Amino acid sequence: MSIKNVCILGATGSIGLNTLDVISQHPDRYNAFALTANQNHAEMLVLCEKYKPHFVAMVDEDSAEQLAVGVRQKGLDIVVLSGAQSLEYLASHESVDVVMAAIVGAAGLKPNLAAASKGKKVLLANKESLVMSGQLFMECVKKSSAELLPIDSEHNAIFQCLPESYACGERIESSVKRILLTASGGPFRTWPMNKLQLVTPQQACAHPNWSMGQKISVDSASLMNKGLELIEACWLFNVSPEKIDVHIHPESIIHSMVEYIDGSVLSQMGNPDMRTPIAYGLAWPERIDAGVLPLDLFKVGQLNFERPDMERFPCLQLAMDAFNVGGTACASLNAANEVSVASFLKGNIAFTAIPDIICRVLETVPVHNVDSIERVLSADLEARQVAEEIILSI
Ligand code: NAD
Ligand code: MG
Repeated sequence: MSIKNVCILGATGSIGLNTLDVISQHPDRYNAFALTANQNHAEMLVLCEKYKPHFVAMVDEDSAEQLAVGVRQKGLDIVVLSGAQSLEYLASHESVDVVMAAIVGAAGLKPNLAAASKGKKVLLANKESLVMSGQLFMECVKKSSAELLPIDSEHNAIFQCLPESYACGERIESSVKRILLTASGGPFRTWPMNKLQLVTPQQACAHPNWSMGQKISVDSASLMNKGLELIEACWLFNVSPEKIDVHIHPESIIHSMVEYIDGSVLSQMGNPDMRTPIAYGLAWPERIDAGVLPLDLFKVGQLNFERPDMERFPCLQLAMDAFNVGGTACASLNAANEVSVASFLKGNIAFTAIPDIICRVLETVPVHNVDSIERVLSADLEARQVAEEIILSI
């Protein structure tokens, strides 16, 4: 068996570090060939010492310079690149076999597309790129015969519950009746509406079950994460939103389910630990040890389910509506959400302002057909500008 060279886009993040953890458990199978990040050169230097990649890239030029100094001082033989284009270069590098797409937000779109268009095995954690440009991304995967595997725990679970021969993007068989997409409900699941106004970034980032990056933690608290995931599922599994039912499941033990026409419901379960879907994606169609604790159902005791409350958490409905509008509406939704979440994290707006801003952006920014990546990126830019203006005015 030959060792697979892995490029990790977003190596210093939560998914990136979990990926390195799994890789390091299997040095006979995987090599951390290229690591990329935005600005965090101190963390990247630690990763350079520990994993000795061939290439590293920092988007921020100053951070790349600082990293290069550190790499030289430590006597490491690593090529340091800088700038956003270096990510596309590494994601499509001829020596790379597997790309872990784990950048947060729209910044992942171009490198992910670069990996897909070169026919790589793409492990997709970065849901935002699919939300923005699902049609173009899936067309690119099909055209280049890239191997696309979902890493988002719910989509990974759904993939595991579909027939073994299933490939992402194909129409699912008519024997599948429904997809049951589970959601933890986030830290404010039981909070009354009037208390949501005052929540702090720290409270929003304290997810009850998962340890994740800040942006996805806030998205989980607002249920926008489930909205983005619903759109992600529509593209990955080629289904319409009517075939997907969101179930709040506070224990996060069932990661999602597939219901068949004979009444069978298949679920994938496990401890909430992203190393499971990461190991699954890396080794597929085989299985490898992920270093995850065994599931103790006696300790879990109960599995509960609730309907989502669309009134307290309007973001889920906003996402469904944007998907139904189609075209560039989802790119605008995503951009407005990114700007609003960043502003909430800085303490500039209330948590409850997030859906209001997104709603106003969607009403303002015109919708176009998604005929090119440039079109998607211009909708993204316009929505960001409109969102910033709205925030300044409140
Ligand atoms: P994170 O914030 O912990 O890490 C983000 C990574 O992206 C960092 O390495 C950072 O350097 C890099 N990055 C940030 N901005 C960038 C830019 N402009 N250009 C290039 N690189 C940039 O995020 P995370 O929690 O690891 O999430 C990453 C992606 O995976 C997100 O799309 C998220 O929705 C998805 N995801 C995460 C989890 C989880 O458990 N963390 C679960 C499912 C899906
Ligand atoms: Mg998820």
